[in-house]
Amino acid sequence: MPDITIARRVLLAAVAGTAVGGWPIGLADARKVDKPKKGHAARQRRVVALDPGHGGVDPGAVSARGIYEKTITLATARELARQLEASGRFDAVLTRRRDVFVPLRDRVAQARAQRAELFLSIHADALPDMSMRGLSVYTLSEQASDRQTAALAVRENKDDFVAGLRLSREPREIGAILLDLARRQTNNQSLTLARAIVDELGRAVPLLDKPHRAAGFTVLSAPDIPSALVELGCLSNPEDERLLPLPAYQRRLARALARAIDDYFAAALPA
Ligand SMILES: [Zn+2]
Repeated sequence: MPDITIARRVLLAAVAGTAVGGWPIGLADARKVDKPKKGHAARQRRVVALDPGHGGVDPGAVSARGIYEKTITLATARELARQLEASGRFDAVLTRRRDVFVPLRDRVAQARAQRAELFLSIHADALPDMSMRGLSVYTLSEQASDRQTAALAVRENKDDFVAGLRLSREPREIGAILLDLARRQTNNQSLTLARAIVDELGRAVPLLDKPHRAAGFTVLSAPDIPSALVELGCLSNPEDERLLPLPAYQRRLARALARAIDDYFAAALPA
């Protein structure tokens, strides 16, 4: 729909100029590392932002044996980035490459600065019920799909005291309708991404009961980048706790996620 395309372009220009002015610390590093490659073929590559959850002073969930979520998320994101780059079809941008704390808002700003076409936040949860295990995927929604997911969003949002890009932060002249159009298109694409993840990961690893859920995750709040958050498994479950640190298991997760990202671009943005 041409109207939406124009609306998105106006929105992007306006948001880029104002709402995320004053680039956050760490962006210069990301640019240096992830500088787009030269050449005709390189221009065809899709830019995918991968966001390893937590880091630095924020370990995320900690398992009974003392395994940190932040370690699992970084290792798996790096492996996924490696596989995506190796395919020759993607440039992977990581919101952190080391064990450092990065505020949620800066993660979104980095993805936007790198002109990412997709944002995937990678986590590994711990649940009160130790019997629950498997992968789950989350998209942004003002209303949480269930109480468990509302609680998860609180856990995932608390490592930051500044909310993401809120409507109130965006320039007034953009107008609610324009923003709503852009958000609606982005939300539809985010749902396509979540469905692709459920389909591909369901063939590779165990899934949590009702594997696609929604809530108000700060890190998924970009109005212009289709986004999803994946919980690779439950560190509270002994079997998931055993598997998640294994490089072979991380490779399997990454292979299925790479297939889901391929499926997403085929479905959402046909060539
Ligand atoms: Zn997390």
